[in-house]
Amino acid sequence: KRVEIGPEVHGINPALVDERAINVVRTLKNAGFEAYIVGGAVRDLMLGLAPKDFDVATNATPEQVKNLFRRAFIIGRRFRIVHVVYGRGREHEVIEVSTFRAYLDNAAAEQVAGNEKTSKSDLAGMKHAVDSTGRVLRDNVWGPQDEDAARRDFTINAMYYDPETQIVVDYHHGMKDAKARVIRMIGDAATRYREDPVRIIRAVRFAAKLHGLGFKLDPKTAAPLVKSQSLLLEVPQSRMFDEMLKLLQTGHALASIEKLKELGLARGIYPLLDVVVERAEQPFVKAALLDTDRRVGEGKPVAPSFLLACVLWADVRDGWAKRLNARQHSHPALMDAIDDVFNTRIGDVSGRGKLGGDMRDIWTMQPRFEKRTGSAAFGLVEQPRFRAAFDFMRLRAENGELDEVLSDWWQEFSVADDNLRNDMVEEVK
Ligand code: ATP
Ligand code: MG
Repeated sequence: KRVEIGPEVHGINPALVDERAINVVRTLKNAGFEAYIVGGAVRDLMLGLAPKDFDVATNATPEQVKNLFRRAFIIGRRFRIVHVVYGRGREHEVIEVSTFRAYLDNAAAEQVAGNEKTSKSDLAGMKHAVDSTGRVLRDNVWGPQDEDAARRDFTINAMYYDPETQIVVDYHHGMKDAKARVIRMIGDAATRYREDPVRIIRAVRFAAKLHGLGFKLDPKTAAPLVKSQSLLLEVPQSRMFDEMLKLLQTGHALASIEKLKELGLARGIYPLLDVVVERAEQPFVKAALLDTDRRVGEGKPVAPSFLLACVLWADVRDGWAKRLNARQHSHPALMDAIDDVFNTRIGDVSGRGKLGGDMRDIWTMQPRFEKRTGSAAFGLVEQPRFRAAFDFMRLRAENGELDEVLSDWWQEFSVADDNLRNDMVEEVK
């Protein structure tokens, strides 16, 4: 049932609504389409939080959306959406616009999934046939707003806000649940986890994120979590990796780890996440997690390479020590230890070049901090990844692995002019 909620009830502060999102909604409505801010942004606005990004939902197709904006790009295949881009460079802002999707019941979903597997030519034929009717692949079947609402995950994530009329459209008692501080899956939770097992991780993530505001998972939403966990084995590794990073890098890493333990999900979600949870109490790893949460809270950027380098450092260090004992030379020993860690702990997703490269740089630069002679020090400070490697070294020092005199020296050296740097290098001799 469609319920419209006015501003005196939902209490959204219009000042928290992004100008660009308002502009996207206005442009679509002026062209005769329905358009709303949707999902997490509406949830956060209702709770008085500033949303970190704004999504818009509309009955316009991706092509129709694209044609209305100067810089708009259709992205995704399984789930086609439009990125409307404002501004350039570091300051640029992306508003994600998705077309209302039809609710796909389980039988239909399995039929489509089955077809996908049968044969490539079947799939090509189907894709073609469905294009003309608006049905593309699974998840690209357009539908009315009420169906779009029903295929979203939690009731508090399924509300629509029109910034012009200031009306919130709610089909699943999202407003009531927001007020009662309940995170509730729409429909039968076990079924919804089967449809998309990543919702298991999303349940944990929102429980952690909203814990401070007093939110709890509805018992019926929480109950099937543990027995649904094995479904995650079917999810592509790259998507699991991304979901793990969302748990750890959106400002609620420690709370998420607590929730995982509390819900009986401490092991078995994803191998690398198991390692993080296991080591979360180790001072060095805990410091890294705390630091990540703090930085996100302050609106500073965080790099997954840094956190993962911290979590896996113990393996690198042990492998390195083992090889040194076997009388391998220091540098190749470290390189081999690093290769070993990538093979055993990270696997396929290490193919993401930059992340892996950055982790390597952080680790391989560590021994160089202990050589403070002449050109070595001048060379190190000019490395593009010096900052990250230095922050890593400082965290080691703060946790008793190195003398803090060393991290203080590098701190000063990194900001000194050449004269002072020369003096500093002389003094070390
Ligand atoms: P965040 O604040 O972390 O971005 P969010 O709720 O905006 O949280 P997104 O991943 O940005 O989460 O997704 C936007 C919206 O899309 C959600 O609010 C939800 O309505 C819907 N959604 C996203 N992922 C799923 C999913 N796996 N199943 C069902 N609905 C989903
Ligand atoms: Mg979002």
